[in-house]
Order: sequence, then C-alpha cells, then structure tokens
Amino acid sequence: MKTKQYLIIGNSAAAIGCVEGIRQLDKTGAVTIVSREAHHTYSRPLISYLLSGKTDRQRMRYRDADFYETYGVAPLLGRTALSLDPAQKTIALDDGQTLPYDKLLVATGSVPFVPPMEGLDLVSKKFTFLSLDDADALAAAVTADSRVLIVGAGLIGLKCAEGLSGQAGSLTVVDLAPQILPSVLDEGAAALVQAHIERQGVRFLLSISAARFENGAAHLTDGSTVPFDVLVLAVGVRPSVSLAREAGAAVGRGLITDEYMRTNLPGVYAAGDCTESFDITSGERKPLALLPNAYLQGETAGLHMAGGGKPFCTAMPMNAVGFWGLHIVSAGSYAGDAYIKCEGEHYRKLVCRDNLLQGFILIGDVLRAGIYTALIRDRVPIDTIDFELIKDKPGLIAFSRRDRQKKLGVKPA
Ligand SMILES: Cc1cc2nc3c(=O)[nH]c(=O)nc-3n(C[C@H](O)[C@H](O)[C@H](O)COP(=O)(O)OP(=O)(O)OC[C@H]3O[C@@H](n4cnc5c(N)ncnc54)[C@H](O)[C@@H]3O)c2cc1C
Repeated sequence: MKTKQYLIIGNSAAAIGCVEGIRQLDKTGAVTIVSREAHHTYSRPLISYLLSGKTDRQRMRYRDADFYETYGVAPLLGRTALSLDPAQKTIALDDGQTLPYDKLLVATGSVPFVPPMEGLDLVSKKFTFLSLDDADALAAAVTADSRVLIVGAGLIGLKCAEGLSGQAGSLTVVDLAPQILPSVLDEGAAALVQAHIERQGVRFLLSISAARFENGAAHLTDGSTVPFDVLVLAVGVRPSVSLAREAGAAVGRGLITDEYMRTNLPGVYAAGDCTESFDITSGERKPLALLPNAYLQGETAGLHMAGGGKPFCTAMPMNAVGFWGLHIVSAGSYAGDAYIKCEGEHYRKLVCRDNLLQGFILIGDVLRAGIYTALIRDRVPIDTIDFELIKDKPGLIAFSRRDRQKKLGVKPA
C-alpha cells in the first residue's frame, strides 16, 4: 500500500494534536510540518513568562526536544506556505518548493487585529504580543524607564503587562470596553481582578480609546493624552484564514469544518484558532482561541486523516489563567440564573439554564474547577445531582453512586 503523505501547516497546539492523532493509527505515513516560525513547538501562553524571565526557551517547549524524531515528523521550520492548490493537492512555499499531500491540515492560528488608528504608522516602537519573536522584540525595546502603553485589556494585553511588570518605568492599559477581560469575566469579577492588578502598579483607562498618535503620545477620545515610549497593540486576534480562503475553503467567523474538522475542500482539514467552533453552552458558532480546544481539534483531525476517530463536539470557552498570583478559572457562557459569592479576592459564580450548568467563574479558590467543567461538558442535568452541595464545595460526592463510579472508572457491580 502507498505510504500516506500528511502535510500540516502550523507547528503549535493544533498541529501537535494532529501529529499525535495520526500516530495513534498510522505509524508509517510521512508527516511534514511547515511553520513560518523558526522555533521548535512552544507553548504560546508562556511568552509572558519568557518576557518576565520566569521561563526560558527550553522550558516553554510544548513537546520534548526529540518530538519530531520520535514521531517521525519532517519539520520545515521558518518556511511560509504561500498558496494551496486543492485540485493538484499541493502547497507552495516561500522558498519555491511545492509539497504534495494526501491529507492536509491547516492549523495557521490567529493573526493580530490592528484597527486603523491615525498616526500609528509614525510610531516607531510598536509591537503586537502573540509570538515568541514578539516577546523577544519587546524585551529588546523596553528599558527600566520606558513608559509602556498597552491598547487592549483582554487576556493578551494583561499577560503582556504582567510580563513587563518590574521591567518598565510605567504600565498603562487603555481599552474601549468599560471593564477588563470582557470576553472572560463578568463585571463583578473584572472589578476584583482589576483592583488586584492596579495594586501591582498598572494604571487602567477604561471606556476610552486612542483617537490618534502624535509626538510620542496617544490622544484619547476623552481629550486627555498619554505620553509613551513603547506601544503594545493587543486589541484582539482574528482567525488566520486567508491561505485556505483563497483556495476556496468556506469561511464564517473562522474556517468552517464539520465535527471531524474537515473543510469543504477534499482532503483538507482545519483545526485550532483559525477555525470557528460550535460552543455547546451558547449554541453559537464562533472562534474559540484556546489552547486545549486547538489540541483536541487537531487530534480529531489527525485521527480522521489516518482513517478513524470520533467527532469533536464539546467545544466551549474555557480559561485557566493567573495574574500576579491571582488564579482565575472560567468556562461556558453566563446567560441564565446566577449564584454569586464574593469574599475578598475570592469570587464564585455559577450560571444555570435549562436544568444545566452553563458557565462558571472562579477567582482565588479554583480548586476542583474541573468538576464544574465536567458538569457543563457532559450536559449533566442539575436535578440528578446535589447541586446545593457543590455550589460552594465542588466534589464527586454530589453525584449519584453510579455516576461517581463511572467518573472514577470503577466498573459498576
Ligand atoms: C499571550 C497569550 C496568552 C494566552 N493564554 C492562553 C491561556 O491562558 N489559555 C488558553 O487556552 N489559551 C491561551 N492563549 C491562546 C493559545 O495560545 C492559542 O489558542 C493556541 O496557541 C492556538 O493554537 P493553534 O495551533 O491553533 O495556533 P497558533 O498557536 O497560533 O499557531 C499557528 C501556527 O501556524 C504557523 N503558521 C501560520 N501561518 C502560516 C503559513 N502561512 N505558513 C506556515 N506556517 C504558518 C505559525 O508559525 C504557528 O506555528 C494565549 C495566547 C497568547 C498570545
């Protein structure tokens, strides 16, 4: 039988999930990874820890140094895929090579979204914060007396602020939204986290945006100005779809796939941040730029490319993140009846709708958050568990004996 040719564009969570999925079923097929970034696979969320010096290039690897060898992968790193020809089943690279495939995974991730802003072209020290190279460039530009302005109070902007903490003269974060982390937290939780971050010396300017940049200062929509030396643009990200779209792939809010991660192009799959997912908690199709989601989608694609597998239909927003030692775990959506408890820096919100837990936010005490995540993911009806018991103390004890045994992997008697 002819050896299958697997080709993967991307070298991050979705791509690695795909390799590991393929190798569960096909030990001999030829697997090639093409990645624009010239680095070994690394954990993207750790770039802020690289910036702060809490990790280094070795420790932030997403897989061991011998991963490509062990999994029989040919890595083409530092190479960009320029075009995809679905009729010929080939991709063209920036060095003039054409690579054939039987099965292709597009795992191109996200690109930073930078809205048009007057005067931005003339700002010399401006950065985005999405990659290891971005972190290196920023580290080289910031000095102990730099005034850093970060536009965007979402996860990436705040992670950047944390990474620069103690290394810059001042840190100011400006955002059009009235609260920080608007896609992750509700208002109450956001206020608590904001206060915690302010205590670390970060200044927030919310409900305001930069109208224009001129003479080393941002002129804000309320008429005030913020002088800065270094500007970080962390307004948001968009799925990186252009390569596949130009080849005829269907695109909604990201590349559209079925539950096996197949696109509408024969033999072409897509996974990770470049796709749109079906969020089981809101019923919406939307990009879910999350590492575990990217890995699971990639694995699903890999298994199916190799001739087997099962559908992936449990996507939902999920975050486990910390800022200056304050832990946050959240998942799902927040429309429904809410139970809220707030004590100091501890916050707990559980949201129920249609007899199901639909979402939660935990701040501070995040122990056993996985129990809530499992309740959402497994669509466990609330009236089948002791919900009162787990509102404050999540634990398996709230489940029926049968469900407890199932979750613990015990065979029922
Ligand atoms: C600062 C920061 C903090 C984050 N924190 C969290 C967190 O706490 N929790 C969480 O779940 N997620 C977090 N994320 C998001 C997480 O990193 C992403 O969801 C995840 O990396 C997506 O993986 P991916 O494989 O889809 O794409 P990406 O990681 O974006 O990788 C895309 C890959 O495609 C390659 N590529 C793109 N275009 C081409 C091309 N044309 N040719 C060749 N190669 C190409 C790139 O080189 C790269 O290897 C964070 C992200 C950032 C930036």
